[in-house]
Amino acid sequence: MSSTEIDLHQQLKKYFGFSQFKGLQEQVIKSIVNKHNTFVIMPTGGGKSLCYQLPALIEEGTAIVVSPLIALMKNQVDAIRGISSEYGIAHVLNSSLNKSEIKQVKEDITNGVTKLLYVAPESLTKEENVEFLRGVKISFMAVDEAHCISEWGHDFRPEYRNLRHIIKRIGDNIPIIGLTATATPKVQEDILKNLGITDAKTFKASFNRPNLYYEIRPKTKNVDSDIIRFVKQNDGKSGIIYCLSRKRVEELAQALQVNGIKAVPYHAGLDAKTRIKHQDMFIMEDIDVVVATIAFGMGIDKPDVRFVIHHDIPKSLESYYQETGRAGRDGGEGHCLAYYAYKDIEKLEKFMSGKPVAEQEIGHALLQEVVGYAETSMSRRKFLLHYFGEHFDEKTGEGASMDDNVQNPKKKHEAKEEVVLLLKTVKETNQIYKAKEVVNTLIGKANALILSHKTDEHPLFGKGKNREALYWTALIRQVLVTGMLKKDIETYGVVRITEKGKDFIENPSSFMMTEDHIYDFYQDDTNTP
Ligand code: ADP
Repeated sequence: MSSTEIDLHQQLKKYFGFSQFKGLQEQVIKSIVNKHNTFVIMPTGGGKSLCYQLPALIEEGTAIVVSPLIALMKNQVDAIRGISSEYGIAHVLNSSLNKSEIKQVKEDITNGVTKLLYVAPESLTKEENVEFLRGVKISFMAVDEAHCISEWGHDFRPEYRNLRHIIKRIGDNIPIIGLTATATPKVQEDILKNLGITDAKTFKASFNRPNLYYEIRPKTKNVDSDIIRFVKQNDGKSGIIYCLSRKRVEELAQALQVNGIKAVPYHAGLDAKTRIKHQDMFIMEDIDVVVATIAFGMGIDKPDVRFVIHHDIPKSLESYYQETGRAGRDGGEGHCLAYYAYKDIEKLEKFMSGKPVAEQEIGHALLQEVVGYAETSMSRRKFLLHYFGEHFDEKTGEGASMDDNVQNPKKKHEAKEEVVLLLKTVKETNQIYKAKEVVNTLIGKANALILSHKTDEHPLFGKGKNREALYWTALIRQVLVTGMLKKDIETYGVVRITEKGKDFIENPSSFMMTEDHIYDFYQDDTNTP
């Protein structure tokens, strides 16, 4: 063991009382201590904060931590103050401070007392702060929740776009650490580019949560009674039920209460006192279930949440992962049940109309991934992890059996020829279409876009019309997961063929496919995708 290793363990024990690093923490910390630009992707609860807190405490100078949430900054500062006799060891710099408080913060930084300075991006942009920080010793700059920099993240903040420029002004050689729990390849690329750290050492933890069971049920008009039955079967266990609207939250909480279930509502329309009370009741186990909008959950660290139910499907798989991730934090059972109806997707699409076109395109592309996940009959875990750029072996991977599709497999059948036809269609139509047009080309259904490219005159047009559109849609999803096709994100989902796909055309091998679920609501004409 080298001296730095011994040191780091000692420091970990000294400041945080832990005897072991969690996951990739030690490697990350070494990278920071060695002044590398560093990129950390870990799921929530992975232990990201310690990755920058520990090096900040042991290095000379002040580390600046950019974070979008004032409440979270305050919690972190309080926690750090708790481990040191020096009150000034951590500070927040924001617009709520009065003049004498600001003076104190600046004095502590200048005197080398402050090791961690938390700032919101807006405060960092202020000229007087930039000027001040230029003149003091900065150990490194940590950008927390770095996905806020990307329009493809679930929480885009335009102020994050200026960070690179400001950091450069504060000091040219300050190492930059980006941290996020959102890990689609596109968001990662955006972060590295926008922070100007394409050379960063990247540390990505697995996003697999092997103890979580994933299940999708079609959403019918009986959804409330289905939920009540589920909760009763899980009597006494803690759970969260997410709904899209406050009204639904109220109604469902009432329905649960009427049925003898200890449940409370939680949404941003309730006054702060009631919200805190309901949250505390949940944490203290005075109630079992919180029915909530997505306002609930940020910073809630209840380890034994046993189920998370989505009454309404979320708008992206990032949100779904984040929200389901609140189940089973202690490693015990965690059942993630979502109700899916295509009508809800249309509702979410409607919410986006009126927004700038690019934003709508992104929102639409993200929703299509949710549809794919909900309708697929392949391993849900594999689908989800593929979305996060991670390979998962559905036979031997940890948690492989933990989803409804794997538990109740549909029959598979040989689709080698269909895959070849699909790949050729993508390739020979010059890789210009999104999945929907590829399907239309296969089944020979022309629309304005197809006509404008004269694809209807192509010899492959309609070559797959012996199969239905849903069949081809399912096949495209499964071929995407194998990596023979890929979706081009810049163009909001144009499907392209990869080298692996081209090889398959030359040397086709067996490809066993399962058809997607065809939920009853598709029988209703008003509800077709
Ligand atoms: P994230 O920011 O990635 O969501 P946190 O930094 O909040 O995660 O850490 C999650 C939890 O893990 C916290 O309760 C923290 O105290 C704990 N933790 C972090 N590092 C360690 C460690 N080395 N040993 C034990 N617990 C740790």
